[in-house]
Amino acid sequence: MFTLPDLPYPYNALEPHIDEKTMQIHHDKHHGAYVKNLNDALANLQQYNNTTIQQLMAELDKVPEVVRMKVRNNGGGHANHSFFWTIMAPKAGGQPSGALAKAIDSAFGSFPLFQEKFNAAGVGRFGSGWVWLLNDKGKLSITDTPNQDNPWMDLPAQAGGKTPILGLDVWEHAYYLKYQNLRPDYIKAWWNVVNWSEVERKFKASSS
Ligand code: MN
Repeated sequence: MFTLPDLPYPYNALEPHIDEKTMQIHHDKHHGAYVKNLNDALANLQQYNNTTIQQLMAELDKVPEVVRMKVRNNGGGHANHSFFWTIMAPKAGGQPSGALAKAIDSAFGSFPLFQEKFNAAGVGRFGSGWVWLLNDKGKLSITDTPNQDNPWMDLPAQAGGKTPILGLDVWEHAYYLKYQNLRPDYIKAWWNVVNWSEVERKFKASSS
């Protein structure tokens, strides 16, 4: 059974950039539903009793076909949101430092150029999905995925071997209460809550 992780901070901790009501509904209702639906999909499949969400993503093509799409959507939702809560924090934002800052400069030219490219991917993702900063042994790249797909999934046309170290949810449920249709404003505000120390930790952990 998968469980809904607690938010690592109060619902209102990301105010004014991400509002309390959005965080509450996003975590309790949306993420909560992904966990419940994932457990429902796997209820009769004992081989997944002790699996981790990362293993499940990596072996999605081996999940019985009758529940595979349900696992892809809801398992993806669980993996993505569990990750998303950790890369945000109150009193965060600013810029990364050290090796990650260097890797960003070398991949994109500068931090503002990196942000520009990441923002463009977020604004340009048609419909619902995610934008990712990926690490491939110190080499960074940006990609985006539809729905609740993610780079951990073993799918054709996916970025195999690349580890997400930063991700942005651009589903309307992530911003509509406060920003309505203004996705670019949400993305701009989101940079103020990026938890760079956690992103740096993920970068180091996936670089060796
Ligand atoms: Mn979401």
